[in-house]
Amino acid sequence: MKRVLITGAAGFLGSHLCDRFIKEGFHVIGMDNLITGDLKNIEHLFKLEHFEFYHHDVSKFVHVAGTLDYILHFASPASPIDYLKIPIQTLKVGSLGTHNLLGLAKAKKARILIASTSEVYGDPLVHPQTEDYYGNVNTIGPRGVYDEAKRFQESITMAYHRFHGLETRIVRIFNTYGPRMRLNDGRVIPAFMGQALRGEDLTVFGDGSQTRSFCYVDDQVEGIYRLLFSDYASPVNIGNPNEISIKDFAEEIIKLTGTDQKIIYKELPKDDPMQRQPNIDLAKKLLGWEPQVQRQEGMKKTFNYFKGLTEEELFRSEH
Ligand code: NAD
Ligand code: UDP
Repeated sequence: MKRVLITGAAGFLGSHLCDRFIKEGFHVIGMDNLITGDLKNIEHLFKLEHFEFYHHDVSKFVHVAGTLDYILHFASPASPIDYLKIPIQTLKVGSLGTHNLLGLAKAKKARILIASTSEVYGDPLVHPQTEDYYGNVNTIGPRGVYDEAKRFQESITMAYHRFHGLETRIVRIFNTYGPRMRLNDGRVIPAFMGQALRGEDLTVFGDGSQTRSFCYVDDQVEGIYRLLFSDYASPVNIGNPNEISIKDFAEEIIKLTGTDQKIIYKELPKDDPMQRQPNIDLAKKLLGWEPQVQRQEGMKKTFNYFKGLTEEELFRSEH
């Protein structure tokens, strides 16, 4: 049985990856320090013989007993609110954490895939974003802690690949959504859905003309899975190219949730990218992958998940 280590296992993407690898017949070792994740996302796996969990901060030396065939490094705060609140931990998990996991991969002769992000393109001057675009990042701005940690993560991963011959994969993930996102993580989908469910007005930042392109989690997991088993070491964009402005998106959510709330406008956070859309030609060619889930269908599934939360969860405010 092949053994895979997934860091960030109690988070949104990590927990879905644990489910997928269990389903594919792997022995899964989940690791997380629970700084932004929740054990609730993986509690259904605890009874399984082929799932183990390590409560550990990967920015500190990482030890795993036994062999490892694959490592997926997904540990990192991922929402702007989270990484503004814990900037140093964000820098550390992308740099020191990645270094530890690359070292572990080398020691275990495992293949490692690291979770990079569309944020390496910053506020992009090339649209849609192709993998050969170097990006436009403000290194010292508030988002720099995340963007630069991820850029360093890509560099050190390529260095291990070139210098040590390590088998590495880099996925550049574009905005992904679905069940198990944390309601209060500040990202736009949980924010709007929480507001709709609590009967609050929807907060659009800026004039809402900035765009994003939202990918359903099942599509994202499929793309990551295929990339891991490909033989391509350079970065690959995985996301859904269906682009929408945040204002139109708020209106779509108002319709979907049947709320009679209004849109209210708030200040645009500093360095908020004005446009974002993945060019996925490379993923199509290399992996035969493209998204299958339309936004309307994915948003319905996500809304059903949020509707299932308890009143206490819905009204608990962490920010
Ligand atoms: P998330 O916050 O739900 O999950 C991240 C998990 O990592 C959490 O469970 C958290 O507790 C854990 N973690 C953070 N620091 C840690 C540390 N030092 N040691 C151990 N565990 C730690 O976020 P997510 O959306 O699931 O994102 C997962 C990964 O995917 C991140 O690396 C993120 O940068 C990347 N990503 C996500 C998106 C997206 O749209 N969801 C987009 C681009 C990149
Ligand atoms: N946004 C918004 N209202 C909110 C939360 C976010 O208008 O309550 C905007 C945010 O300014 C950004 C977009 O929605 O332009 C996506 O934000 P998110 O935090 O989900 O992810 P980002 O793509 O910026 O990392």
